[in-house]
Amino acid sequence: MSAPTLQTVMDLIDGRTDELVALTQDLIRFPTINPPGEAYRPCAEYIGERLKTRGFTVEYVRGEGSPGDSDQYPRTNVIARWTGSEPGPCVHFNSHIDVVEVGAGWTVDPFGGEVKDGKVYGRGACDMKGGLAASIIAVEALIDSGLPLPGALEISGTVDEESGGYGGVAYLAERGWFSEPRVNHVIIPEPLNVDRVCIGHRGVWWAEIETKGRIAHGSMPFLGDSAIRHMGAVMEEFESKLYPAMAARHSDMPVVPEGARQSTMNINSIHGGQAEGFDGLPAPCVADSSRMVIDRRFLIEETLEDVKGEVKAILDGLAAQRHGFRYEMRDLFQVAPSMADRDGPVASTTAAAIETVLGKKAQFVCSPGTYDQKHIDRIGKLKDCIAYGPGVLDLAHQPDEWVGIDDMTNSAKVMARAAYDLLTRKRS
Ligand SMILES: [Zn+2]
Repeated sequence: MSAPTLQTVMDLIDGRTDELVALTQDLIRFPTINPPGEAYRPCAEYIGERLKTRGFTVEYVRGEGSPGDSDQYPRTNVIARWTGSEPGPCVHFNSHIDVVEVGAGWTVDPFGGEVKDGKVYGRGACDMKGGLAASIIAVEALIDSGLPLPGALEISGTVDEESGGYGGVAYLAERGWFSEPRVNHVIIPEPLNVDRVCIGHRGVWWAEIETKGRIAHGSMPFLGDSAIRHMGAVMEEFESKLYPAMAARHSDMPVVPEGARQSTMNINSIHGGQAEGFDGLPAPCVADSSRMVIDRRFLIEETLEDVKGEVKAILDGLAAQRHGFRYEMRDLFQVAPSMADRDGPVASTTAAAIETVLGKKAQFVCSPGTYDQKHIDRIGKLKDCIAYGPGVLDLAHQPDEWVGIDDMTNSAKVMARAAYDLLTRKRS
């Protein structure tokens, strides 16, 4: 028998298509809906038990005390580590096991794992159980090939990514699971398309703005002060000043889709006056409060401080000019933008592997929204992290979500090659 090569690994992956499909189906059949965090433990244990039989050391870490954690809905994470023949770097594949709610419009069983026309269907097929399955097959093929491997390979299945990752990657990162020297390179198999390397994401700032008024009888509004009219003034300022300013700001981040290559802000909601759903008679009152929730996405060229300051300046301007204008602003959620170096080890080896496997140049992209990379970067202080995985990003969270079997196989090959190169490359 000749000595194993990378081709041996590729052949092993090709021969395991059925196993890859079956694994994806099994993972989809755990209805890991978040919220509330259904079936996390059995799903984590399924992954852990499989990898244990293949020589991994498996640990379960519950995100105790994190949002949503309870005995009924434990935030169970699984981390499996395989150690090579000699010391070396560690390559880690991190996937979230949670999925979003099912929603309406399905024509297949969302937790059936149905296979049709070269696709596996189900909630989470694309985001991101297909990617998790591909990474497991990739790592197992590397190990089974008999290629000498230094260092370590890790696979984790983590919870709550869809709700911020606090009981998952953030919890683990705070406890050193995503820091050097334990881990050196991380690939997150999120569905960013099989030929693209995602090096980061924009920042997020959610905030609530409340304008204040004074209650009075609705027949004599001049005796009160309408918080809703004050909010209207805020809207006008946003339209005439903030939106044009944001639209003029372009990023060097290669965000896809291209519309997200600038600063954006969604007005998530506006409420004022009588509570929504009030089913008594209308009360003739002037609104004394109006609240707006904004979802501002910002670029790596902007700072969170500037982003907040820009909105605050508009509100302060109104307070100076507009009679009776008073407001409060509350932060709800914030995430700094994150971008790995495209010439860094994990991005460049993955891009090279894409070229070898698919025969075309890899595209470097950034995500319009955030994912768990933020915690690995900010908390774990580990910069060499990307997202790469099978699946079409647009299908995430949609009805009849699917992942292509060929894409999974190809991405498994890319992951195996990238991991091998990272383990064996000459370190500078
Ligand atoms: Zn995802």
